[in-house]
Amino acid sequence: MINKKVKTKWIFCVSLIGVLFATALSNGGQAQVAYAGGQDIPPGVNFYIEKQKLLGGMNLYFGNLHSHTACSDGEGTPEQAFAWARDVIRFDFYAITDHAEQLSSKEWEEIGKQADKFNTNGRFVAIRGFEWSHPYEGHSCVWNTRKYISAWGEETADTYSKPTLGLFYRWIDDKDAVAQFNHPGRPKGIFRNLHFESDVADNIIAIETGNKGTGNNDGSYYRWYPIALDKGWKVAPTNNLDNHKLVANPHRTVAIAPLLNRDAILDAMKERRAYSTDDGNMEVIFKSGDCWMGSTLRVPSPTINFDVVVEDDEPIVKLEILTNGGKVVAEKNTEANQVVWKPSVESSSGTYFFLRVFERNDRHDDDNPTADMQIAVTAPIWNPYGSQHLYWS
Ligand SMILES: [Zn+2]
Ligand SMILES: [Zn+2]
Repeated sequence: MINKKVKTKWIFCVSLIGVLFATALSNGGQAQVAYAGGQDIPPGVNFYIEKQKLLGGMNLYFGNLHSHTACSDGEGTPEQAFAWARDVIRFDFYAITDHAEQLSSKEWEEIGKQADKFNTNGRFVAIRGFEWSHPYEGHSCVWNTRKYISAWGEETADTYSKPTLGLFYRWIDDKDAVAQFNHPGRPKGIFRNLHFESDVADNIIAIETGNKGTGNNDGSYYRWYPIALDKGWKVAPTNNLDNHKLVANPHRTVAIAPLLNRDAILDAMKERRAYSTDDGNMEVIFKSGDCWMGSTLRVPSPTINFDVVVEDDEPIVKLEILTNGGKVVAEKNTEANQVVWKPSVESSSGTYFFLRVFERNDRHDDDNPTADMQIAVTAPIWNPYGSQHLYWS
């Protein structure tokens, strides 16, 4: 792990002192991170300038949107959890999402009180959420609401007294709340087979492609991501610890935002400007023109040009652009630590495109000791001008 905050700050300074000086510095190698794998970039491109240009004032914030404490079936108090997340693991953002079915209103208040206490603009974002945990329809984390609803009935027990998925959807719609599909496939119901519900299409903003030790490199949650997209859900992939103890692995949800504060992180998630990574500091930028991952193309064109920048301290070995049905429409092999890639695809080939990056797990820091790859998956860029191919065989 390198200290990404120092690196990001340094790069920000570069943009201030100007392009010429930056070129001189990066060519001189001074203050740059020395990577054994080096760069894989088109001729005439300066990696740091390209990265800064594409970031355009945004930053990558690494966090966890799903965790538990002793308020439900985890260990430790909310205060201990936020302090550990901020000071030991150094997450940029951290959500406590205890099981609603096990929460008392006193505990709910305490989590909110601690979230407000720890939440510090520019340093650490603390979020109170809850997990709606239905025994067979699925689990869902909901963030930053004043109240909560359990799969055993809502706290007021009148309008939302029956614990069905339909009433949960109605609740998040009424409250204008944002939520994600947790660990799809566990339980088996998978939100009624991920049936698309237009009323909550703006409320369900994410899907876990990683949960606990099961990352993108395992694939068992990841495989539901293109299925959800094909069914019409506009979701970003997340990779959350779902930790029940103060123990972390390197899996992260990354939110892309101009600033580190609660509104900016939640806005980034609402915009689906996010990616899921098995590696704790892999930096990934995926755009088309000024459209970030998570956005929708606004101008029709027969060809879509993408801008990709990836940086990691372990070797990046493969990059892929995927579309409907999880079909790969462009790919690149490399061995570099810093990659600039500008693939083009036919607009007709699909209604969304996302990036998947494979990195060789040389540090062996994954929960799965035999995992030789760590994988990052971005939110899609949606293409309203493409045709919906169902490539599933
Ligand atoms: Zn769960
Ligand atoms: Zn959980």
